[in-house]
Amino acid sequence: MQTGLLYNAVQTSGHLGWGTVAMSSPCNAACFPRVRRVAIFGGTHGNEMSGITLVNMWMKNGAEVQRNGVLTKPFITNPGAVEKCTRYIDTDLNRAFTPENLSTPSGDGLPYEVQRAKEINQLFGPKGSPDAYDVIFDLHNTTSNMGSTLILESSTDHFNLQMVHYIKKAAAPESCAVLLNEHPQLRYATTRSVSTHPVGLEVGPQPQGVLRSNIFESMRMIVKHALDFIELFNSGVEFPTCTVEAFRVHESVDYPRDTNGNITAMVHPRLQDCDWEPLNPGDPMFQTFDGWSIPYAGDGPVYPAFINEAAYYEKQQAFVATRRETLAAAAIRKASE
Ligand SMILES: [Zn+2]
Repeated sequence: MQTGLLYNAVQTSGHLGWGTVAMSSPCNAACFPRVRRVAIFGGTHGNEMSGITLVNMWMKNGAEVQRNGVLTKPFITNPGAVEKCTRYIDTDLNRAFTPENLSTPSGDGLPYEVQRAKEINQLFGPKGSPDAYDVIFDLHNTTSNMGSTLILESSTDHFNLQMVHYIKKAAAPESCAVLLNEHPQLRYATTRSVSTHPVGLEVGPQPQGVLRSNIFESMRMIVKHALDFIELFNSGVEFPTCTVEAFRVHESVDYPRDTNGNITAMVHPRLQDCDWEPLNPGDPMFQTFDGWSIPYAGDGPVYPAFINEAAYYEKQQAFVATRRETLAAAAIRKASE
């Protein structure tokens, strides 16, 4: 039975669901349409300089990001914020792609980023429709010590799981973490979510408004590996079942605050810069201004990420606690045309 192998592979993940997998009979792997259009977004946050600089470079000369049979479009998503070198003008663009915003009528009174979200949805979506771009890479920087991190929004998008598996292998010995955000309350309506296969790329540490050559080069290499995968996929290569080590978003942890909302403690020096390392119950988590330690009091180890991210003070988040998980990817190949 041709589908038996695939069913078993998916079943082991504990997350049944086919996503966009098409079960056409000639395939003994999950079949996806050929990738025709890819967008590379920079400047979703206007002070994250690596993606802005790379996208501007590729808009001038796109040879490096062109692949056979694929339209690759580098695009600055929030030019108003890029101009001012600020995260956003009115509201966070990377939270703006909600059904309510995308369906609201255009008009003069809309926040800048809501208007922008509607335009981006028209250009690269519409979100959830067959006309949407196949893949969008959205390039971000973090002030946290996270290295290169790929961010996925679904554990059942087997195309994306295979792509991040390929990228992790190609990037070795450099590590590339995979952050999965399927949390019902903590997931958000990203810019890249207008595409069929949304991929976030977050590279740090890099201060806001600063360009560091090592971070720039790491981001550039990850995008190159991703495009190489797409080219191989389009050429008809079948990618066998595999597993991907991922960090699943579990909880958002805020700073201790007083009754006025002001923070009363800092990230503890033993936690600072230790993104992706286990934080066990009893480990120091925060340090008060007069030197007291506040331990982590959860019920098991978590793996913090976005530790002390500058942009998340306003979001009342000191770090995001994740849990490690092994995701199973089905075999995939291009559907016959
Ligand atoms: Zn960002």
